[in-house]
Amino acid sequence: MHLILGEHHKKLLEDASRLSESFGLEYWRGVYDARRFPEEYWSKLSALRFPGIILDSRYGGLGLGLVELVLITERLAAGGAGLGLYAMLSNNLAGLVIQQYGSESARALLPRVVRGELLIGLAFTEEEAGSDAFAIKTTATKGDEGYVLQGEKMFVNNVGRATHYLVMARTSQPTEGRRSHGLTLFLVDSNSSGISYAYLSKMGLDYLTTGRMTLDNVYVGREMVVGNVDEGWKAIVNALNADRIAYAALAVGAGRLALNIAVDYAKRRRVFGREIGGYQAIQFPLAASYAELEAAWLLTLNAAVKFDKGESSDVDACLCKYLATEAAFRAVERSMQTLGGHGYLRDYHVERLFRDVLLLKSGPITQELALAYVAQRGLGLPRSF
Ligand SMILES: Cc1cc2nc3c(=O)[nH]c(=O)nc-3n(C[C@H](O)[C@H](O)[C@H](O)COP(=O)(O)OP(=O)(O)OC[C@H]3O[C@@H](n4cnc5c(N)ncnc54)[C@H](O)[C@@H]3O)c2cc1C
Repeated sequence: MHLILGEHHKKLLEDASRLSESFGLEYWRGVYDARRFPEEYWSKLSALRFPGIILDSRYGGLGLGLVELVLITERLAAGGAGLGLYAMLSNNLAGLVIQQYGSESARALLPRVVRGELLIGLAFTEEEAGSDAFAIKTTATKGDEGYVLQGEKMFVNNVGRATHYLVMARTSQPTEGRRSHGLTLFLVDSNSSGISYAYLSKMGLDYLTTGRMTLDNVYVGREMVVGNVDEGWKAIVNALNADRIAYAALAVGAGRLALNIAVDYAKRRRVFGREIGGYQAIQFPLAASYAELEAAWLLTLNAAVKFDKGESSDVDACLCKYLATEAAFRAVERSMQTLGGHGYLRDYHVERLFRDVLLLKSGPITQELALAYVAQRGLGLPRSF
C-alpha cells in the first residue's frame, strides 16, 4: 500500500495543523481540569466542517473518504487534542449511518450535524451487553405511528450535551443461528420525554460526560427508524469497522503526541551533567515506540484505503485497532518514564494521555474481542464470541 497525498490532502492537513497550533496543550489541560466540553475547539473544528468529513456534499459535508478522516484524526490528535476528538468521530460515524440508512426526515438533520450544531452519540452498550452486543435487552414496541422504547443504556457519552442518539433496541427475538436478527436502530432526540441520565465517574476523558441512560416509555416516530426493522445490525456493521479504523488513527496520534513530548523533554532535561536523551535507556524505548507507531499507522491507512474501496475490512479494522492501541499505550508509558517524576504531574500533559489511552483497550472494541475476530475471520479458528 502506498498512499500518495494529493494537494487536497495537504490543504486539509494544513488546516488541521493550524487548528492544533491555535489550541496548545495548556488549552486541553484547562478543559480537563474544568471537566468541560471544549466549546472553542469544537466551534473552530466545526467551521472546517470536520464533523462531516465523510458526509456527502449535498448535506454540507466534505464528501471525502475514511482515508481523509483518518489523516485528519491522526493530525489533530498528535497536534495536541489527544483523545479529545470523541464528538468529531461520533458525528462522522453516526452521520454515515444516517446518510446510508436514514429516512428523509433523519437525513434532513445532517447539515446541522456537519456544522456541529447537533451532536450525535452511539448508545448500543448495556450493563449486560458490552462485548456481547446481541444481548441487548432494551425493547422497542410498535404502536400506530411509531415505537415505544424501554430499557437502560450504559456508557452513553456527551450526556447533557448530545442532541441525538443512535439507540439499538430489540423489536423481535433472534432467529435460529442469527443473533443479530431482531435488533432495530433508532435515532432518538435526547430531549424526548421519558429519558433520564445518571452520570458515571470515570478515570479519564475528563472533557466528556458519560452516563447511564434510562429510557422509560420513550416515543420515537416511525420516520426515525434507521435501516430496516429487525435488521439494525446491518445498518451499523459497516460503520463499526470505520469506527475501529478511526480509533486506530486516534491511538496513533495520541501515541505520537506522547512520544513528541518525551523526545522534547529528553533533549532539554540534564541529569548527571548531560541531557537524558543521550542515554540509551531513554533512547531505545522511544525509538522502539517510533517504529511501533509507524507500523500501526501504515496498517491503519491500509485498512482505511480498503474500506474506501469497498473491500471487506473487518479483520483489517481489528488488526489496526489492536496494534495501534498497544503501540499508543507503550508510547505513553515510555513517555511517562522519560519524564521521571515530572511525568506524574498534570502540568506535563502525559498523565492525561496515560489515563485516556487506557480506554482504547476497552473501546470501541476490547483488545480481546479484536483478537477474537482476527482469530476467527483471519485465521479460521473456532468462533469464541
Ligand atoms: C469511556 C467509555 C466510553 C464508551 N463509549 C461508548 C459509546 O459511545 N457507545 C457504546 O455503545 N458503548 C460505549 N462504551 C462501551 C464499550 O464499548 C464497552 O465497555 C466495551 O464494548 C466492553 O464491554 P464491557 O465493558 O461490558 O466488558 P465485557 O463485555 O463485560 O467484557 C469484560 C472483559 O471480558 C473480555 N471478554 C468478553 N468476552 C470475551 C471473549 N469471548 N473472549 C475473550 N475475552 C472476552 C473483554 O474483552 C473484557 O476484557 C464506552 C465505554 C467507556 C468506558
